[in-house]
Amino acid sequence: MDYVAGQSRSGQYRFRTGDQALVRQINLAVVMHHLRESAPISRAGLAEVTGLNKTTVSSLVRELIERQFVREVGYESPETGRGAGRLAMLLTLNPEAGYIVSLEIGVDFLKAICTNFAPQAIWQYKEEIDPDMGQQVIFDRLLALLYQGLSVGSEYCQTLLGVAVGVPGLVDQTTGTLLFAPNLRWENVPLRARLEGLVDGHLVVDNEANMAALGEHYFGAARGYKEVLYLSAGVGLGGGLVHEGQVFSGITGFGSEFGHMTMDPEGEICNCGNRGCWETQVSQRALFRNIRRFAGQGNETLLTAMTRGNLGALTVPMVVEAAEKGDRLALQSLEVLGHHLGIGIASLVNALNPELVVFGGILSLASEFLLPVIESEVHRRALRWNREAIKVVVASHGQEACVMGGVARIFQAVLVEPNLVGGQPAGVLTMVNA
Ligand SMILES: [Zn+2]
Repeated sequence: MDYVAGQSRSGQYRFRTGDQALVRQINLAVVMHHLRESAPISRAGLAEVTGLNKTTVSSLVRELIERQFVREVGYESPETGRGAGRLAMLLTLNPEAGYIVSLEIGVDFLKAICTNFAPQAIWQYKEEIDPDMGQQVIFDRLLALLYQGLSVGSEYCQTLLGVAVGVPGLVDQTTGTLLFAPNLRWENVPLRARLEGLVDGHLVVDNEANMAALGEHYFGAARGYKEVLYLSAGVGLGGGLVHEGQVFSGITGFGSEFGHMTMDPEGEICNCGNRGCWETQVSQRALFRNIRRFAGQGNETLLTAMTRGNLGALTVPMVVEAAEKGDRLALQSLEVLGHHLGIGIASLVNALNPELVVFGGILSLASEFLLPVIESEVHRRALRWNREAIKVVVASHGQEACVMGGVARIFQAVLVEPNLVGGQPAGVLTMVNA
């Protein structure tokens, strides 16, 4: 749906010229975009920043107000106005334009959030699952969460803007089919097809890290940055790349699977079937494995008491707590993980030249200990010009990164095609093959 600039995701299409409905849709999208960037702003201000004439802007704004995407919020103050008697009405996006339901299928949890168009959370929910429950049981629970979200949202306002589902695996973008989720052990699940009849609005299924990357770009730590590398370390190691403000997905949507780059050809077997993937070095499993190994070498650790002697029951918050108390084994294990993370990030920084690296996932709880190690590895290994430009920051959405990313996907879709939601489409999009 990112074809407002005249190019589809694959670059295989171009717009037919002279299509008035399409021109209007593009102009609506441009106005929505500037309202997001610059609101509160007047019609005259919009005409100035968009380059559209005032009559066109007035007509576009009228349509957006009718569709409830935009609202008037009062006159500009005399200080900022353009002179006596010429104070203009200011406009913003309308938080009550509609509601968005965003769901996440994690490896061991389901999560849901319902937000308005601001977006502010109206409702959110999390429950634990186990992949051994089986796909049907997990899918039924997901449906129950979807219905709950739709019900809460419809009490808030009339219009459903869309539903997003984030998954820990590869998704075919053209069909919305989850092709492979190694940690869930799911293959070929036609998620979008199964949900299509239930949702009247945009429906997006995508990889959780792709979503999280966009969420950080739209509403989080990467707002204002156009080239962003996002990494999320937890059960697995996910990656997402924002390029020119859009999620880079590769030709079929499988791009940014950085966690499965081979880092150690002789390393551990990964859940994807290969050996020595980056994920086998940087994940909570890798962290816990190192802790058990160091403890097995006779090193003392607070974690033995914290887990009542069962190091199989480790959690990331426990390791962080032990590290905060100065536990040497916890600190050493985090340092090993940070070292591997830093080596990979340095290579990616050299390959991709991002402006910002955002680090999320449950292991970002340990960022106080990981970031200095990451920074020193990047400093040591990245090319000087790249490393001088790069910043590594912690994701701002924490454990909500994927669901907030789902909200961002719907938000983005609505900004691009506001005329396709909340009423009859104003025009049909026509594309022709180049
Ligand atoms: Zn792998």
